[in-house]
This record gives sequence, C-alpha cells and structure tokens, in this order.
Amino acid sequence: MKKTLKDIDFKGKKVLVRVDFNVPLANNEVTDTTRIEAALPTIEYLIREEAQVLLISHLGRPGGQVKEELRMDPVAKELANLLGKAVLKVDDCIGEEVEKAVAGLENGEVLLLENSRFYPGEKANDPEFAKQLAALADVYVNDAFGAAHRAHATTVGVTEYLPAAAGFLLQRELNELSKVMDNPTSPFVAIMGGAKVSDKIDVIKNLMNKVDYLLLGGGIANTFLLAKGYEMGDSLVEEDKVALARSLMEESEKKSVEIVLPIDVVIANEFAADAESKIVMADQIPTGWQSLDSGGPKTIEKYSEIIKKAKTVIWNGPLGVFEFDQFAKGTDAIAKALAESNAHSVIGGGDSAAAVNKAGLTKRMSHISTGGGASLMFFEGKALPGVEALDDVESSIPENN
Ligand code: ADP
Ligand code: MG
Repeated sequence: MKKTLKDIDFKGKKVLVRVDFNVPLANNEVTDTTRIEAALPTIEYLIREEAQVLLISHLGRPGGQVKEELRMDPVAKELANLLGKAVLKVDDCIGEEVEKAVAGLENGEVLLLENSRFYPGEKANDPEFAKQLAALADVYVNDAFGAAHRAHATTVGVTEYLPAAAGFLLQRELNELSKVMDNPTSPFVAIMGGAKVSDKIDVIKNLMNKVDYLLLGGGIANTFLLAKGYEMGDSLVEEDKVALARSLMEESEKKSVEIVLPIDVVIANEFAADAESKIVMADQIPTGWQSLDSGGPKTIEKYSEIIKKAKTVIWNGPLGVFEFDQFAKGTDAIAKALAESNAHSVIGGGDSAAAVNKAGLTKRMSHISTGGGASLMFFEGKALPGVEALDDVESSIPENN
C-alpha cells in the first residue's frame, strides 16, 4: 500500500505535485481540458487543507530546452478558470526566481511551475535537477498517472529527497486497474487492437495467462490472420511477427484462453478517408486491397456476444482506422457493446479513449484510464516506476520544520 493524501497533514506545508498537464494546444490555447480536470480533486483537496501548492508537469517534447510555444501559461489560465481561483505562474521550474515566488506563497495558494522538460535533467532523471526541485517543497505528491511509467526526475528522482504520496487520480487509476488485473470476475475478456503487434506483445503475453477470451482487431489481427495462412493483400502486417502470432495461437489451445479473430472485415482500395470500401470475409481479401477495419457484421455480432457474457473487460487499441469514419465500424461497435454491458470495463490507450469519446460513450464506461503508456505497462503486469518510488504506508514521514 502506497501512502495517499489522507496519510499526510498538509497544513502550511509546501507540496510539490506532479500532475499530467500534457494537454493539446492550438494557437496558444488548451484545446482539451480533460487532463487538467482530472487533477482537480487533488489540487482542491490540498487547497482546502491549507497547503501551499506547487504544480509541475511536462508539456510536449521541447527536447531539454526552452521552447516558447511549450510554456505552461495557457495551462495556468485554464486551470484558474476551472478552479475559480488565481493561479500564479513562474517562467522556470528551478532557480532563484522560482525560490522567491515559492517563499512568498500563502497557505491555499497555487503556483504552476514551468515545463519540466525544458531541462534535459527531467528525462535523464538527473539527481542534481531532482534535488533542486525537491528543495522547493516539504512533501511530494504524484498525481500524474499518465507519466507514472517513466522514471524521470519529477516522477521518480524527487522521491529520493521528499516524503512521497499518491494523489487521488493516481490512486483511483491504480484501484481500477488492479481491480481488473488482480481480481477479475470471469468471464474475463480482453480486446486488443491498434496498429502493431510489436507495440503490444508483452500485454498479449501477460493477458494470455489471465483472460478467458482475447478478441483481436485492427492491424494486430491482420498479422494473426496472415499467420493462419490468409492472403492479406496490402493490409498492414508485420511479417516478422507471424511466427510469434502462430506460437501464441498454439499456446492458447493448451491454455483456457480463446483467441478470437475477425470473421469479416472492411477493406479499402487505398489508405484514405474517401477510399472505396467493401465488406468481405477475412480470407477473401483481393490483391491490391487492404483491411482497415475489423468491423464486418459477422465479426461485430460475434465480438458483441462475447462482450455481453463478460463480467470483466479490458480494451486497448481501436479495431480499425477509426480516424476515417467509414473504417470506425468495428471500434464503434465495441464501444457500444461495452456501453450496454454490465461488465466492469476498463479502457486504456490514448486512441481507444479518443474513439470512445468520438462515439459519445465516455460516461457509460466503468473506467477510462488517463494514461496510455502507463495503462499498457500495467496490463503488461509490470510495476510502474512512478508508483514504486512512492512511500509505503508503514514508513514514517520525516519532520520538515
Ligand atoms: P491506443 O492509443 O489506444 O493504445 P494504438 O496507438 O495502439 O492504440 O493504435 C491506434 C492506431 O491504430 C490508430 O491510429 C489506428 O488508425 C491504427 N489502426 C487500427 N487498425 C488498423 C489497420 N487495420 N490498419 C492500419 N492502422 C490501423
Ligand atoms: Mg496510440
């Protein structure tokens, strides 16, 4: 058990909170505030507890140097709107200017530090950089589930120097994900899609030992269909993963897991939104055509039936090129089946979450993870460095006065 907010007395303490404010920007405005909203419960709690709140996040990929267009100012503005409260902002995350601003903070005030990735020490987890950050605060809280799979200075390094606890968002993510991974009620169904087998090998291998059904779709399914000997035309396939796909299918026969592949698919004459398309059986893809969607009616019916019987479902990766409307059929059908099912459903992966959002079904899912890479690492059965680094409940908090 990791320490959480309730284990710490925050009154009058300077609290460095790692949040995931890696939001999409356009014209210096935040275009989607989901991630900021997800951090509000922790921030509002710390304000109520009369802490002095220092927020830090990365934003985009500045490559270890200052990039004007990746400053946190638009985020500060949006956060102030959402909190209904002033948010102070500094143009650096360490150094004199920051120390001055921090020293002037009153209890209950919020200060947003500058993009942590303006320093190469962030990604390198440089102890000097971490030490300078930690020196600003008395306590550290990690609420950035989306960055918990990375061992960076703001997720791991600072915990060397400060008592470290999980924020509410991080805690909720861990609860939801461990509920399905450690104590799934069967039938337990995993749906795996996305472009490539190679991105998801470790997830598939780990899930093979846990789930009752593994429904495959998207580019991943193409490689498995190829391994069954089907002609895949111009479909995205990974020739070098065919042997692996074959051995996984053989393995599944010895285990009590059923790997389910598309029966019929939506094919296109080119990779384009306005391509000509038709539905064919998965073993009838003509030369020059490619499967862009595991969304034929027979596939949808079979997958929906399995989901209907499920008690626990995890879903990662769209079943087709859902960015093109006519190839979103399989993905939409899965989202709809999950929305209608009583199963405990957890969705991980940025594109999968976006697909559910696009289908307008976000509110009908049990849990949509805010972390793409982090949820994948969790499904792989691996420990997340940003979580491992936090204090266990047993250890005592050093005095900070
Ligand atoms: P997530 O972000 O949910 O983990 P991935 O990033 O693994 O999902 O995969 C999403 C991408 O996979 C999407 O951009 C989608 O267009 C692509 N994709 C899905 N099916 C296919 C396919 N049959 N051919 C090519 N690309 C595909
Ligand atoms: Mg993705």
